[in-house]
Amino acid sequence: MGKTLVPDAAALHLAEIHTEGETVVLVATATGTTACCPVCGQASSHVHSRYRRTVADLPWQGLAARLDLQVRRWRCANPVCARQIFTERLPTVVAPYARRTARLARVVEALALALGGEGGARLLATLGIPLNPDTLLNCIRRAARPAPPTPRVVGIDDWSWRRGHRFGTIIVDLERHAVVDLLPDRAGDSAVAWLKQRPQITTIARDRAGVYAEAAAQGAPQATQVADRWHLLHNLAEVLEEFLLHQRAALREAARDAASPAGEAISPHDPGPLTPNRPRLGQERLEEASRWRHERLVEQYEAIRRLHAADADVADIARRVGASRRTVYRYRNLAEPPERKRPHRPRRQRLLTPYEPYLLRRWQEGCHNGMRLYREICGQGYAHGASNVMRFVGQLRRDEAAGQPAGAGARAKAARVPSARRARQGGAGAVGPARGGALPAPPKRSAPGAAGVPGPPADS
Ligand SMILES: [Zn+2]
Repeated sequence: MGKTLVPDAAALHLAEIHTEGETVVLVATATGTTACCPVCGQASSHVHSRYRRTVADLPWQGLAARLDLQVRRWRCANPVCARQIFTERLPTVVAPYARRTARLARVVEALALALGGEGGARLLATLGIPLNPDTLLNCIRRAARPAPPTPRVVGIDDWSWRRGHRFGTIIVDLERHAVVDLLPDRAGDSAVAWLKQRPQITTIARDRAGVYAEAAAQGAPQATQVADRWHLLHNLAEVLEEFLLHQRAALREAARDAASPAGEAISPHDPGPLTPNRPRLGQERLEEASRWRHERLVEQYEAIRRLHAADADVADIARRVGASRRTVYRYRNLAEPPERKRPHRPRRQRLLTPYEPYLLRRWQEGCHNGMRLYREICGQGYAHGASNVMRFVGQLRRDEAAGQPAGAGARAKAARVPSARRARQGGAGAVGPARGGALPAPPKRSAPGAAGVPGPPADS
């Protein structure tokens, strides 16, 4: 349809143009000789009466424009139709009951979608279309949104409805960079169900934890699973930080060579014995990194306090310590060094849990051979390492030696038996069986099995 003064030259005859104040008025009459009943659809040529309908139209030269439509009521030609009289429909000009022509409504909607309520209303006012911001918001709500295509490449991860308390699952279309869905929880089942309904999915990017890996394997066995870039970089950053923490002595020395003499005052602190750099397992590694991070924080705190006591100003302290001014403000008035934030241990169901009742019964029947028990539950579908079974059996053995009924403590303790290494460190309250209590809000991610740090899946 070409551009014409009236919205649809085929349906309207422009009878007159005049102005009323700052409004241009177009008077137009509908030209159709028949009209179809909206209820029964039968065409009618019996005009019942005429009336005037006014609707806003596209502005002219910044002046508001109004369309005065001379339209008709018609008698339905169908004697059994429930609707005796109906009004003329002009679908190309204006929707039933609308107060704006279709072409004006399209402009308003486009501006509302682009600029929102307030911004859209401001621009429309300068164009000669004064509208309330709320009208634009309603327009956005009503705007027809085409159903998004089924995604092929999705990212899946957990996110929190309420931080640290309630978690859901977010699914993102990685080709369109749009959120596709939010699932109410982060359980595998709901993800499996969601994936099963979308067999077109070819690739799933996920974190390195097990829940979504299993969900993807079950719900979308056709899809390739990949570790997403965020998690790879996150793991890389952790490993790198840990490595650099190992090299603190060398870094400090290098910094001392380069720094001004004032730099030396900060912390000629002996880093202490370094742990040999061997691949470590998830939680232990997190703990160690957390302790080092905290040590560095305490050093920073002490340097800030010392410089503050020596009357250095905040900007100077911040520059010399390498901290933000905000940190300096916070630490200079802190009586105690900041507390260490404990790394979050992802809570997951222990792999052995479903088999524990069986193992316990076999133990009580007199079978105390760990490898044999391991083979037995393998026959029942257990598909993980023997070390979990050996640990469980070891706990049963200790229970009995301590005079407790076998299994009394196993359920609670088996997963938390500290390694010799942890037991040595336990004195400082760093880790150990009683890690409960001050668990901070879990970090955004739960992927202890870091990239580049291979190792057996089970705890040491
Ligand atoms: Zn009818």
